[in-house]
Amino acid sequence: MTGRLPHKTGEERGTGLAAAKNNGYCSQAMTATARPALSVVAPCYDEQDALPEFVRRVGAVLDGLGGSSEIVLVDDGSRDRTWQVMTDAAAKDPRIVAVRLMRNHGHQLALTAGLTVCRGERILIIDADLQDPPELLADMMVLMDHGADVVYGQRRQREGDSLFKRATAAAFYRLIGRLTEVQIPLDAGDFRLITRRVLDLLIAMPERHRFIRGMVAWIGGKQVPLVYDRQARVAGESKYPLAKMVRFAADAITAFSVVPLMASMTIGWMMAAIGFAFFIYSIVGWLLGANLPGWTSLMAALGLLGGMQFLMLGIIGAYLGRLYDQSKGRPLFMIRDIVGGPK
Ligand code: UDP
Ligand code: MG
Repeated sequence: MTGRLPHKTGEERGTGLAAAKNNGYCSQAMTATARPALSVVAPCYDEQDALPEFVRRVGAVLDGLGGSSEIVLVDDGSRDRTWQVMTDAAAKDPRIVAVRLMRNHGHQLALTAGLTVCRGERILIIDADLQDPPELLADMMVLMDHGADVVYGQRRQREGDSLFKRATAAAFYRLIGRLTEVQIPLDAGDFRLITRRVLDLLIAMPERHRFIRGMVAWIGGKQVPLVYDRQARVAGESKYPLAKMVRFAADAITAFSVVPLMASMTIGWMMAAIGFAFFIYSIVGWLLGANLPGWTSLMAALGLLGGMQFLMLGIIGAYLGRLYDQSKGRPLFMIRDIVGGPK
């Protein structure tokens, strides 16, 4: 057995969005333990095989940089031994803070939990599977020393990802670029270094269906890319099956654009124009006494209109459902326990 680690509840550490909002500058001077210079935050879902290597490599990078730091690992309701591996690591390295959520909340909310718990002046967001090399942190720090508020990793190559994933991701980033006025960088994930100022603004946003990379872009400030090659996963497989990817894309689009809602109006106008043309056509036919049986055109119009109406209802439903979710005002994440970190 390893030595007993201090267990803290979320409240003690000041988690939850309300507490996060109070975590800014005014409370900073009053906190007993000073902020570490850097926090590394990684959400983990069934990452038992990747974690030891992740902790080793991130630890080495932090050793190289010097200065105070912490590694916040969030167990997003894993079904494997992830939590065990995390707490073992936290017992060995006082920089590690292990956070366990009540259940699986999904990547974006697990990341939000980690971001709310972390206390650093600068925050590195990274996946636990080492697809994004932590060694880039040194370059990111230099760019931030030169005044960047956000340094985001921009993928040049995606070695570890399938052709299908690369193609859908490329199409998605271009589509969302066209649908929204926010300049969401192309081919960038959540791998980025952000300042405490940006983080405080980010966690003060109460939205539930979070598309964090878009939200960070929306905040603005000086955002600088750092181009890199995306690696293959060190272990395990992607936790983003197609269904999750589609849901994530829908969250991103509905969170950042109302163009689909407006589309129903455009299409409605088009259908109205076509309907009016048919109306004139049938009246003229009636006047000339040349009325056709008309079954084909009737069925065609019926089918087309019916399809369109359901599509538009679906789009309205997609927004309404999210509005409903948001209006319930439930917590974004629920922490079961926190282990490790400064005493
Ligand atoms: N992840 C998570 N909860 C989930 C799914 C994924 O915390 O429900 C974590 C996962 O452990 C990883 C990161 O989110 O650290 C990105 O997931 P993954 O590598 O599977 O996605 P991909 O790189 O294939 O897009
Ligand atoms: Mg990955």
